[in-house]
Amino acid sequence: MGVKVGVLALQGDVAEHIAAFREALAERPGSSVTAVRHAEDLTDLDALAIPGGESTTISRLIEKNGLYEPLAEFGGGVFATCAGMVLSADRVDDPRVRPLSLIPMHVARNAFGRQVDSRETMLEVAALTEPFRAVFIRAPVATDAGDGVEVLARIPEGIVAVRSGRHMAFAFHPELGGDLRLHRMFLEGLGV
Ligand code: GLN
Repeated sequence: MGVKVGVLALQGDVAEHIAAFREALAERPGSSVTAVRHAEDLTDLDALAIPGGESTTISRLIEKNGLYEPLAEFGGGVFATCAGMVLSADRVDDPRVRPLSLIPMHVARNAFGRQVDSRETMLEVAALTEPFRAVFIRAPVATDAGDGVEVLARIPEGIVAVRSGRHMAFAFHPELGGDLRLHRMFLEGLGV
């Protein structure tokens, strides 16, 4: 059966998420990957990607487009990266972000310090047999994860990959770099 994935398209690396999910779904006929800008775009979606970008800006645009409640109540799985991880949390260290409370965790923005803009590391991720080349760009970390949240990867600074029910969140960018193992794990977890 086809899978309907939406990508929140307010700001950030939207095109990269669309391309990665299109590739991950190439062999599933009837699937679609579409941009989400308004509440009605969420209708019938099985999953939603919340991209990397600037979480304060995305949060502001969510309010402006009347998307806060529809996103907080979204019934499908959420695949959130970087700024998306910040937005999917239930607690954030920055009052300019109103988190969607999709995953019970506390997230600290820009957790690597100002001088470290980006970093690449071979990361051990639970449930993957080989390490994942993780690209961190002004990345957040989760500093705690609540009940039912499975920590999939952690580095000295904190938690960088989690799964909670059908939701997954990453401090790095699986949509960059062409390795789609985490997308596939997410799609399998949807049970569609
Ligand atoms: N630092 C950004 C934020 O907190 C996230 C960066 C990213 O998404 N690459 O919004």
